[in-house]
Amino acid sequence: MNREAVYPGTFDPVTNGHLDIIKRALQMFDRVTVAVVDSPAKRVLFNTQERIEMLRATVRDLSRVRVEQFNGLLVDYLQQINVCIIIRGLRAVSDFEYEFQIALMNRRLNSCIESVFLMPSQDYTYLSSSLIKEVVRLGGRVEGLVPGVVEKALEKKLSLTK
Ligand code: ADP
Repeated sequence: MNREAVYPGTFDPVTNGHLDIIKRALQMFDRVTVAVVDSPAKRVLFNTQERIEMLRATVRDLSRVRVEQFNGLLVDYLQQINVCIIIRGLRAVSDFEYEFQIALMNRRLNSCIESVFLMPSQDYTYLSSSLIKEVVRLGGRVEGLVPGVVEKALEKKLSLTK
């Protein structure tokens, strides 16, 4: 059986928390597609191509992972590629309510969809892309919290926007 799952998100930018979830998903699924939202509702620092390039560099050694972009409804994208499982990360109770709503809505939109929630290592439970951007913007170091390629990209981008 070829079990496949999609891990969707904004990834603005990818953090070691995201990577932790991808690796956990690989223990359960044969193939994981990281699906990058092309036009998210939230304002992004990195454009879609930049977010995808950082992710591809991050998962370069993980042969069963691919990174793609999608537009529109996630359930439509899943149908197009014939996948029924969505992976999401759960950090704290604060994530739960939103994730619960989205999971039920996705299942209502397409009854084949199941959402699987994975918890990261406790080292990453407090980590979010927005916190990382804020710390770098204020001159703090994020080594060990994001892949090296992301650390460099953040410094470059935020020094340009100062
Ligand atoms: P979205 O805008 O879809 O929430 P994100 O890139 O912020 O996109 O997050 C994508 C998924 O990864 C979400 O399920 C989120 O809960 C999860 N996630 C984000 N940061 C972490 C982390 N540090 N540890 C585990 N999961 C995380």
